[in-house]
Amino acid sequence: MTERPIILWFRNDLRLADNPALHFAKQRKTPLVPLYVWSPEEYGDWPPGAASRWWLHQALRSLRDDLRGCGSDLITRVGPSGKTILDLASQTNASAVFFNRCFQPALRERDEHVTRQLVDAGLEVQTYNGSLLFDVGDVRTGAGHPYKVFTPFWRACLAKPVPPQPLPKPRKLPEFPSFRAVASHEPDLLANMSWENKLADHWIPTESGAHANLREFTQHALAEYHTGRDLPAERKTSRLSPYLHFGQISPRQVWHAVSPHEHPPTPKSDETPAKSLYQYLAEIGWREFAYNLLHFFPETRNQPLRPEFADFPWERNAAALERWQRGMTGYPMVDAGMRELYATGWMHNRVRMIVASFLVKHLLIPWQDGAAWFWDTLVDADLASNTLGWQWTAGCGADAAPFFRIFNPITQGTKFDPTGGYVRRWCPELAELPEKWLHQPWEAPANVLGAAGVILGENYPDPIVDHPEARKRALDAYQTIKKQN
Ligand SMILES: Cc1cc2nc3c(=O)[nH]c(=O)nc-3n(C[C@H](O)[C@H](O)[C@H](O)COP(=O)(O)OP(=O)(O)OC[C@H]3O[C@@H](n4cnc5c(N)ncnc54)[C@H](O)[C@@H]3O)c2cc1C
Repeated sequence: MTERPIILWFRNDLRLADNPALHFAKQRKTPLVPLYVWSPEEYGDWPPGAASRWWLHQALRSLRDDLRGCGSDLITRVGPSGKTILDLASQTNASAVFFNRCFQPALRERDEHVTRQLVDAGLEVQTYNGSLLFDVGDVRTGAGHPYKVFTPFWRACLAKPVPPQPLPKPRKLPEFPSFRAVASHEPDLLANMSWENKLADHWIPTESGAHANLREFTQHALAEYHTGRDLPAERKTSRLSPYLHFGQISPRQVWHAVSPHEHPPTPKSDETPAKSLYQYLAEIGWREFAYNLLHFFPETRNQPLRPEFADFPWERNAAALERWQRGMTGYPMVDAGMRELYATGWMHNRVRMIVASFLVKHLLIPWQDGAAWFWDTLVDADLASNTLGWQWTAGCGADAAPFFRIFNPITQGTKFDPTGGYVRRWCPELAELPEKWLHQPWEAPANVLGAAGVILGENYPDPIVDHPEARKRALDAYQTIKKQN
């Protein structure tokens, strides 16, 4: 073999179809050496949590199988990235490294550093956008500033040309004949993991698993997404978030599957399918917005975007935090959500808002503590979306819900889980309670509790706080920063 190979550096783009780095490397018609480098220390203060590591372990296995199916393979190694790639380049006599860009701030810096190392060593480096519809920074206000409000941001996105059609999935990849001579080192992603088996009951973390979810969603839920997306008892959302995070599907593929050829027309009528399509693509738009915010305001991963919130009188409380994490607050809608998260690595968006609001407003625990728990337990843990979600809920982020709007977990429950299917599934000890009391068991008469087998304080907790008191305490706390500003 005389042609020098290209190293294809996989990161959060663990797919074959619509993968720009892979597509353009393949066009060179020289051998490809696919590589994944495990380097958690390069993620800065947010290295992948347990659920993410579980997903990554499965995703890498599946990517290797898919690559083998195309006559190629996957080399895995343990970092640091720069040295690892340079070593592999010298072992394989590679001439170039192709990769799709990452947007987590520490990884961006890492990539700049590695690119310099590779270029200094005489290697060609080519990078692509494989994970966003519109590259970060491409969508700005007329004055050239980043948007801090979602609606004009998304309007500006929709005014741009339609994202290009997805790139095809290769059937065959240029062969690299010496894979056997190049050692792989398996990272121990599942070390100290107690959860492994539970998550496998709920997910198929493969590229084809992503497309199965997309098909299921477009055939059975998309048309009613506008109304269905707020009902956690039913499967009415796409559950694509972990696949999008790990790049097992691209937002471009999702776009063209739901809205072929064009931008979704702004719905003028009350017609649910049109509203649903618009709404669904807007959710993909929130993901784009989150990536833009993290790009321009990287400190928001730890600090509030609105500086006055730096002085908010949060109260760290380890015991209350643990009751929240375990789903033992005594508020059924909150507990159901936290238990869904721990059992499946995922939680419905409506419930994420309810549990997050409860933590920061009813318990006054800093949003960063909640974000850290989500980070460890969500299979879709994503620094951009998680930061946006928590800062939105805490009222301290871009386009955030005002702090004084405090979700009432009881009315949220009766509105979005009216027949109680969600609470009954995740809090089985309450399953026999009639709907009327399901979201506030402490109000139920003793005989109703007795008939349902509920003993408050024994098999289901008493409420951790009284809702009206907690609400007043939160508003008083908020007054202290309002007065200062
Ligand atoms: C406190 C909090 C924390 C969150 N943390 C994360 C996180 O770590 N990772 C993550 O992917 N999402 C996060 N979200 C956003 C949202 O809850 C999930 O993306 C959504 O529930 C995933 O389910 P789905 O794929 O069925 O969504 P669908 O309703 O089917 O939406 C399709 C896709 O749009 C994107 N999306 C939808 N809503 C949002 C949103 N509000 N912000 C950004 N992108 C969105 C996701 O990529 C999602 O897969 C968080 C929200 C909150 C309130």
